[in-house]
Amino acid sequence: MQDGYIVDMALKRADGDKEEKRPAEECAAEKRPGFINDLRNLSFKNTDENKVLAAKYVSAYRGRLVIKRAGPKGRSFSLFALFISPKLEAGNQYAINTVKHEYGHTLQLKRLGLPVYLKAIACPSMKSGLSGIEYYSQPWEVTADILGGVEREHAEGAEEIGEAYLADRQPRRKLAKGASGPQ
Ligand SMILES: [Zn+2]
Repeated sequence: MQDGYIVDMALKRADGDKEEKRPAEECAAEKRPGFINDLRNLSFKNTDENKVLAAKYVSAYRGRLVIKRAGPKGRSFSLFALFISPKLEAGNQYAINTVKHEYGHTLQLKRLGLPVYLKAIACPSMKSGLSGIEYYSQPWEVTADILGGVEREHAEGAEEIGEAYLADRQPRRKLAKGASGPQ
């Protein structure tokens, strides 16, 4: 606290005639390392995408751990945890959609199981050289959008094709557990 106050006063002096008073607590929060701040804010019940985007290193979203780290090609990806590119900023709609989309991938993993997920979702997703609407219209991507609740424009018929793609690959034992889909 005391240090924060001294730093604050020094900044004020360097700033010249700036008069605004800042509480010492606010200064202390600024000085606290980002990781400690992240841990203080960590809640697995969090459903706010912007809180995920505002975290510096680690956060949580709808029960999943979120790590600020981009995968191959600088893209966000997910494998149990969500790996979100640190370049994505809070308040940006594309960034918000990316958090929802990556969460959608974790639901695909839950539905398909790891071996099928890696083969049918992760591999084609990483290999894809497409971008924009074409990228998000691929069966393994459009279904992550749907499950994650992303509202985004897709190519005509892409959502139906995606749903069928997922249903065809869903292991029988997962269907038997009561998940929806054709028997
Ligand atoms: Zn994806």
